[in-house]
Amino acid sequence: MRNLRSSLATLMGLGALAGSVQAYAAERLVRTPEAFGAAVRASVPGDSVVLANGVWSDFEMVFTGEGTAVRPITLRAQTPGKVVISGKSNLRIAGRHLVVSGLTFKDGFSPSSEVISFRKDNQALAFDSRVTETVIDGFNKPDRVAEDYWIGLYGQNNRFDHNHLQGKLNNGVTLAVVLSSAESQQNHHRIDHNYFGPRPPLGSNGGETIRVGTSPFSRTRSLTVVEDNYFEGCSGEVEIVSNKSGGNIYRRNVFVRSQGALALRHGDDNLVEDNVFLGGGLAHTGGVRVINAGQTVRNNYFQGLRGDGFTAALVMMNGVPNSPLNRYNQVLDARIEKNVFVDVRQVLFGAGADQERTLPPARSTLSGNVFLGVGGEAIFKAMAPIDGLTFVGNTIDGVAPPTGASGFEAKAIGRHTLPDGRVYPDAAARKALGLQAPGRLLTREETGVAWYPKSDRAVAFDSGRVLKIKPGQDQLAAIAVRAKAGDIIELASGDYAEGRVVEVRQPLTFRAGKGAEPVVTFDHTTLFNLIGTGALKLQGLRLSGVNAPDAIGNAVIRVSPSAPLNNYAVELVDTEVSHLGGKAFAVLRGEKGAFADHVTISGSRFADISGTVLDLAGETDGLYGAERVDVAGSQFTHLGGPVLDLVRGGTDESTFGPQVRVKGSTFRNVAPGQPSMRLDGVQVVKLDGNLFERAAPVRVTVHVGKPDLSEAGNSGAALEIVDQRK
Ligand code: CA
Repeated sequence: MRNLRSSLATLMGLGALAGSVQAYAAERLVRTPEAFGAAVRASVPGDSVVLANGVWSDFEMVFTGEGTAVRPITLRAQTPGKVVISGKSNLRIAGRHLVVSGLTFKDGFSPSSEVISFRKDNQALAFDSRVTETVIDGFNKPDRVAEDYWIGLYGQNNRFDHNHLQGKLNNGVTLAVVLSSAESQQNHHRIDHNYFGPRPPLGSNGGETIRVGTSPFSRTRSLTVVEDNYFEGCSGEVEIVSNKSGGNIYRRNVFVRSQGALALRHGDDNLVEDNVFLGGGLAHTGGVRVINAGQTVRNNYFQGLRGDGFTAALVMMNGVPNSPLNRYNQVLDARIEKNVFVDVRQVLFGAGADQERTLPPARSTLSGNVFLGVGGEAIFKAMAPIDGLTFVGNTIDGVAPPTGASGFEAKAIGRHTLPDGRVYPDAAARKALGLQAPGRLLTREETGVAWYPKSDRAVAFDSGRVLKIKPGQDQLAAIAVRAKAGDIIELASGDYAEGRVVEVRQPLTFRAGKGAEPVVTFDHTTLFNLIGTGALKLQGLRLSGVNAPDAIGNAVIRVSPSAPLNNYAVELVDTEVSHLGGKAFAVLRGEKGAFADHVTISGSRFADISGTVLDLAGETDGLYGAERVDVAGSQFTHLGGPVLDLVRGGTDESTFGPQVRVKGSTFRNVAPGQPSMRLDGVQVVKLDGNLFERAAPVRVTVHVGKPDLSEAGNSGAALEIVDQRK
């Protein structure tokens, strides 16, 4: 456009004018925050502020200006990807027609409530502005409870596109569209072609990847478009996307192995179309959850989704009469049309029905949808009457029809597998069903930036070198300092005496060499301390606390939250822990603020321990200490405390965990006067084939919802449920 205008100007004999305009298009390369501030102040429409390549640390940028549609003011990297913003840094944008591109935020965190904010303050917002080709990776506040948004969208007509966001671990939505003043409503923002990479479970509400609006402003229209984005492993909580306003469009997005759902939580008249949800058979992968009035869900594709309840492939919820803004409006006038469901676990009507949520979906139609399964599975479930739903021309093949509904025709559908793995009705079947041909699937390479890798940065146990050590003094502590992530430290037979705490700062395995029987003793209150991105696997070791001090609160493995924020893992395989005397000596203690992705114990033996084997009860306020705890084939004998103490406070319904599974294990003389395990607010408990002898039952306290609790084939009293639901 600019070139065209200057050409026209030249043709019209106005070359001198065009030349003078060109002269004002200054590019200012800056190397210091002071020079940056001066360059921003000096910029006029068409100018660029260019950050020099390198690391900019503790840099709080304010980028303001008034560009024009054809001559925006630009803030960019000298070379995209070569400008790293680290330390305590952030960026605020305010004005009109501003463009930001090519920055990388990593190795730090925002000292404020946002990393990139489309406003300077409550008064100065951004309009007609754009952030593109920018990366934010693991830019987490060190305290997991401390909340921030990585992106806060305010103002109107802003675009956020081709960015790469990955690894948010602390509390708060990754990208929030905020409607808190009239100037930010009916905003017509466009959020497109972004790569939303892995976001692991937060262990609380507040782990959404995108939220558009909030409940106080949910009756207003946001008119935001979210399209052509790629969501991979966005599993922070039950809502991947939380829509809380009206008139928004979600289209052509791809959701891959993301645990959660696109939830139309608040607000009316939203459109969800041409999206693709690929669960890959992973637990809790969901589709679309419908609440409120006037929602349209059409031409979407759902495959391999294993979620149920709030994360079923399609959920239509029950509402609350005269619902307060923050509860659930009845589903009214929904249109669910021409969606294709392949190999999904559940489609749920009347979800959440209880004494408060009494209004089933009404005046709503499901038409022309196709449900493909194998072997006549019962995927449809209703928790409330479905007579307010009209079913027209839906087709099922390999799944059982919903009970009490007409409008489903069972017939064999020819299936065609596309090169990208999607399974569609073949051309003849599509013609008969009136379905469009499948659209091209957006690839991850079309989203984000080309110059930053789209890979999960977590290093797996046992993926590195094998380092061998021999018995002696402080051998483990010494090798831990020089080991690298994924390394395996192999111990020969004999006695290892640790006089120093073993600091584990990356995933490390300590294991017995083939046929070896190493014994490790230690004379501090802790043997292993997990720091930063530390994770620990022990295999074939014998650990004895016989030389530990007679103190209160010792722990063989201790996890204290420290920067960078991390979801840790501990795995104990064929390991023996004994002689933990004193008072309240634990095997593993997760301090407040520490969060385990998983703790796994298999084929291990624990005896003569004064405290709790797994003490993960440090959390309060709706957070919890571990997503999954799995125990198999292990023996617990002569314990002063429970095998596991795990607390999830609060009554929200935003998490899948904590999940606890115990099988084939023996509990003997465990925790006199206390439960064998104290599981407070845990969402999944499965006890299979365990033996309880002079051990009280596992006590599960239920605060909200319908946790999945089961026991089978146990000997002795296994499960005690304390219901504290209001
Ligand atoms: Ca939520």
